[in-house]
Amino acid sequence: MRFIKWWFPLAAVVLLAAVVLLAAAALALDQYQAAAAPPADYVLVIDPGHGGADGGAVAADGTLESDINLDIALRLEALCRFWGVDAVLTRSGDDIDYPAQADTIARKKVADQHARLALINGTPGAVLLSIHQNKYPAASPHGIQVFYGPVAGSDQLAVLTQGNLTGQLCPDNRRVAAPADKSIFLMKNAQCPAVLVECGFLSNPDELLALQSDTYRTKLSVVLLGSYLQYIRGLQA
Ligand SMILES: [Zn+2]
Repeated sequence: MRFIKWWFPLAAVVLLAAVVLLAAAALALDQYQAAAAPPADYVLVIDPGHGGADGGAVAADGTLESDINLDIALRLEALCRFWGVDAVLTRSGDDIDYPAQADTIARKKVADQHARLALINGTPGAVLLSIHQNKYPAASPHGIQVFYGPVAGSDQLAVLTQGNLTGQLCPDNRRVAAPADKSIFLMKNAQCPAVLVECGFLSNPDELLALQSDTYRTKLSVVLLGSYLQYIRGLQA
């Protein structure tokens, strides 16, 4: 009897210690897996603005915004594939399949925007990055600017991306991340964190020259990917 009295509390303490240790080990393993695993919970949806019947802004030399957007997007998508980052494009070329009833440019644009939105909102874990170029009647305005949608996290991604783009590519840039205008369909209706990057002004001769360079477009895509990875790793930390 005396032995049993003595043994029971000890067994209970040992058992409790084992449970606590196992729980701690399981927790540590979970934390280790979260840190080591590729960011599989998120999908970068890369949206090269315009395309098909809609060339977007046009530079004085005829350069189309839609072509520059697509080139940056394809470079970014190639980097994602290289690094094992899940990504999808809303378009991968300049041809867009429009429904038969979309018989005017305006209707084609609307049909295309709705198709892109369906892809974005149908992608679990989506983070939208829309790529555009700016244009102004005067030549002097310049600088990269990032705009963000209303869903939580969008502003955080925009501020991060704006800081990285400015720091790495245009340290004198005074533009700051700002809310996207409500008239921008994808920014307004995407149900995920969403940013739109105006990579430069086609109306500014220096920026047009930079945007026409392969090296500069690669740099843009590298900084965009780095910013996205910082953002989703921050969410997983
Ligand atoms: Zn645009």
